[in-house]
Amino acid sequence: MAQIRIENLRKDFGSFTAVQSSSFTIEDGEFFMLLGPSGCGKTTTLRMMAGLELPTAGEIYIDGEEVSQKRARERDIAFVFQMFALYPHMTVGKNISYPLRSQGMPKAEVKRKVSEVARILGIEGILNSPVGGLSGGDRQRVALGRAIVREPKAFFMDEPLGALDAEFREHMAEELRALHDRMGATTVYVTHDQLEAMQMGDKIVVMNHGVVEQFGKPQDIYDWPATTFAAGFIGSPPMNLLPFDGSVAPGATDVAFGTSRLAVPESREPGKGALVLGVRPEHVRLDDTSDYRARVTAVEYLGTTQIVTLRVDHGEIKARIPSTTRVQEGESTGIALDARKLTLFDAESGRALR
Ligand code: ATP
Repeated sequence: MAQIRIENLRKDFGSFTAVQSSSFTIEDGEFFMLLGPSGCGKTTTLRMMAGLELPTAGEIYIDGEEVSQKRARERDIAFVFQMFALYPHMTVGKNISYPLRSQGMPKAEVKRKVSEVARILGIEGILNSPVGGLSGGDRQRVALGRAIVREPKAFFMDEPLGALDAEFREHMAEELRALHDRMGATTVYVTHDQLEAMQMGDKIVVMNHGVVEQFGKPQDIYDWPATTFAAGFIGSPPMNLLPFDGSVAPGATDVAFGTSRLAVPESREPGKGALVLGVRPEHVRLDDTSDYRARVTAVEYLGTTQIVTLRVDHGEIKARIPSTTRVQEGESTGIALDARKLTLFDAESGRALR
């Protein structure tokens, strides 16, 4: 088990900065997600933590010890890649035991450890089978087995489920999370899939263009996004972001929004000029008595809820409402926003006013 602390970590490739001054802490035993769009620097961050890439600046501490310039094999971590490189001519058992045999561990001990790992992963029955004919899921389990048999301080995984189809992916995600909960080892997991990050992670770092946008528990990031990027990247559909010109004084509990006044959570920070109002689709209600008017431009039925697209003065809003509410494309309606759940952002910096 391990606590991993990142301080002002930076990586330049020539004149291109892939990771800029990132700082966050991964607590012992956490399932930790590095989340962001393609090219945002999450793989580079993970590779620096693993010792596969040296930082340009900043520090990495594992259990309080600085390891920034140490090699991968001096860090006692296991890396699980997306493409599992198993040894095709070896059996499942030999693949799993390989790291132990190459350390020169006595045979009896190797056998005991491999049995234990096979039991945890539910693959006792295939230990003597060649890996060549295995299904995708079993290959995944063998690769995991090879990673966990060394009992490393931490596991690093880079989009491990990326190559799997949707249904199987969900199943393996549950297995991975259950395995983590049984073993309790610190796990750092790279994904571009916000749903996967929300479902599996104890904590999430949201990255964009090499910058840490937000770091925290999934629910906190969802409820209180720190930036417009985090707000727009998480959630499906994501948070509605409505630009407007206005001003908000410290302690104010409402704000002029076009021709109406909107109740907002009290903020300590003032804001003026170009602002952005953020509201999640589930916090938008259709309310015919409201003078905040909208026109319905689309209705998407999703079973128990429906997503209604509404055209308003400031752009477009999506509302998630119960399917039992009757609503038709083209109709005019009033809408109401849940004041306790709104976030105001400064448009230029993209940062939430708190
Ligand atoms: P993806 O999901 O596409 O892998 P990512 O968020 O993991 O994206 P990185 O792989 O960390 O992103 O890459 C971040 C940026 O750094 C990208 O623009 C990439 O092209 C660049 N980059 C990564 N490795 C190198 C390298 N060895 N040399 C030059 N540029 C690199």
